[in-house]
Amino acid sequence: MRALVTGGAGFIGSHLTEKLLAEGLRVVVVDNLETGRLDNLKPFAKNPRFSFIKEDINNTVKIAKYFKSIDWVFHLAALADIVPSVVNPSAYHKANVDGTVAILEAARYAGIKKFVYAASSSCYGIPSAYPTSEEAAISPQYPYALTKYIGESFCLHWAKVYKMPVVSLRLFNVYGPRSRTSGAYGAVFGVFLAQKLHGKPFTVVGDGNQKRDFIYVSDVAQAFLNAASSDVCNEIFNVGSGNPQSINALVALLEGEVIHIPKRPGEPDCTWADIEKIKKTLRWQPRISFEEGVRRMLANIDYWKQAPVWTRAGIKSATKEWFKYISI
Ligand code: UDP
Repeated sequence: MRALVTGGAGFIGSHLTEKLLAEGLRVVVVDNLETGRLDNLKPFAKNPRFSFIKEDINNTVKIAKYFKSIDWVFHLAALADIVPSVVNPSAYHKANVDGTVAILEAARYAGIKKFVYAASSSCYGIPSAYPTSEEAAISPQYPYALTKYIGESFCLHWAKVYKMPVVSLRLFNVYGPRSRTSGAYGAVFGVFLAQKLHGKPFTVVGDGNQKRDFIYVSDVAQAFLNAASSDVCNEIFNVGSGNPQSINALVALLEGEVIHIPKRPGEPDCTWADIEKIKKTLRWQPRISFEEGVRRMLANIDYWKQAPVWTRAGIKSATKEWFKYISI
């Protein structure tokens, strides 16, 4: 079996690539390294079944040939983060919408057997029902969420019109080793671990009682594998733990001083995935508990030595556009 992973040098993509290689597949990674890192490929760079193509997903002429004899396509390449998507929405449209159409077309012409899309739970916005099922109303709050949702709609449209065998996975808060260390403000684990390493207080948003459905990255990689290997097509699945944790609970496990920063507009007090559908249909369930996941992060804390150390003032300035444009 041969797989192609777009965004394979990124956080989730690199874990998925590692898993596919461990399962005996041949894996081609396509990544422009704009946010992905060569370092993330190190654990398997020498595997003879692995190859890396440094290319942009929108460069259709260049990438088409790598889809030849590919069985499974995993499309994870995307621009992430909220603030830069508010500042530069057209870059997000190009990467997350045009890029998805480009990959769908390359996959269609190559006659691939399965296409798995990394969608985002941010499509639910501020949900009105918990746990939130795949049937919940769609309400993106910022351009990143919108572009990932439009990308998902394109995938399902290709399933309808071109009979492309598609599965879309709506990922909740994914964490684990190799989660982003640089660039834009975001992803609480990277922020807190860098703060801990430098003896700085954790910048807790609001009162810290807000909850997130954190899901460990190896469980997410397994969900992608189950989605590809099952016969299920044209379906959307939530991928979360189904067991949301508060930021205060995270702080208690990480241990350290706390300061409080203002609540951010447009973000829910709780995310909580209803995972009944994926459990039943793809026979998937989360294996890594929150406590175990956090323990593993602390065991790998040196990885975040390169990460920026966010302070109250730094966060205030980095989130200026967020507070300016997004309202509750
Ligand atoms: N958070 C926090 N301090 C920070 C960054 C984030 O308390 O410096 C909280 C934030 O309020 C949210 C959770 O951590 O409840 C996850 O935030 P992240 O940006 O990682 O993901 P989101 O769920 O917002 O996409």
